[in-house]
Amino acid sequence: MRDYFKLVGMECGRDLRERLDRSLHILRDATPERYAEFSRTYTGDCPMLRPDGLCMLQRECGEDALSAVCRYYPRSPRTLHSDECALSASCERVCEQLFEKTDRMRFVDVPLEFAYELPKRSDDMITRFYVPVRKLFVSALQNREYTLSERLAFCEKLAAVLRDGFAARGISGIERALEECVSLSPERAAGERDTSGFGTAAYMLSRLAERYPIERYAAACAASEYGGMEKEFLKRFPGWEIMCEQVLVNHVFYDGFPFYGDLRYDIYHAFAALAALYAVWKVSSVCSLACEGDINALVALTSELFRMAENSNFNIAALALLANGGVPEKSVILPLCAL
Ligand code: SF4
Repeated sequence: MRDYFKLVGMECGRDLRERLDRSLHILRDATPERYAEFSRTYTGDCPMLRPDGLCMLQRECGEDALSAVCRYYPRSPRTLHSDECALSASCERVCEQLFEKTDRMRFVDVPLEFAYELPKRSDDMITRFYVPVRKLFVSALQNREYTLSERLAFCEKLAAVLRDGFAARGISGIERALEECVSLSPERAAGERDTSGFGTAAYMLSRLAERYPIERYAAACAASEYGGMEKEFLKRFPGWEIMCEQVLVNHVFYDGFPFYGDLRYDIYHAFAALAALYAVWKVSSVCSLACEGDINALVALTSELFRMAENSNFNIAALALLANGGVPEKSVILPLCAL
């Protein structure tokens, strides 16, 4: 909130003042910690971004004029359910570091300070189970004895059990669901490689491209035959499974998965949105980079898609496309995981 009033009352040149006045607005569900935001330009960029890639606000008024979110980006502190700090994969350097890392991602305790107001710790059912539930999903995603698609299919199973546990609305019901999850194991995919989710993923991309600046990825998918291109893509990027694991684990941590703020959505909805993100990212990567493109192109594509996923209400848009306001169906979700 302090950042908002600082920008509203700040002395600056006419062009910058006009941009601020046109784009800075108070959020409908404003809180003291998340009070206002800039409306994006029609290209999806921040209105303060100059054509030379520099920030007009910082250039004209100095670093202190930036909001805390911009100053700390891509670091994103989370304090509602646990004291944590994630990094956003919307930053290209973060993607590069994730792609370079081959060991399983670990979470470490380090003292950090942030010079702005952060949300106070909540004390509800989600806070109680926030870390144990996420640990289950992270260890499932990091189980390298299975393919990434098999791990995602296992996460679908965990999400279904946990959804029912949380629906019981009691501590004992959730604890039983957690115990049941620990007793479950992933399964090997049987039969032919299932690429039937490609049509759903390509359709989602085409609809998302009406809203986000990702038209070229949607166009690449519209003109592709997925199976053959995936083989070429995996030859070009043999480390894809581990790269993908790191980015997904980072996203789970960044997004507070599977507890999104909106109470309309349960854990299964959260997983459906994660599967949708995986699918649109994978098919975009395959169809755009199978025949040409290097690691830098994959970094650029990944950061663009995670900019869409992490800086907008992507989860809601994805669920609307997948389930049209209803419950996402397993028969739609699993083929996305298989891609
Ligand atoms: S630093 Fe912040 S205000 Fe400046 S261009 Fe980037 S997002 Fe916009």
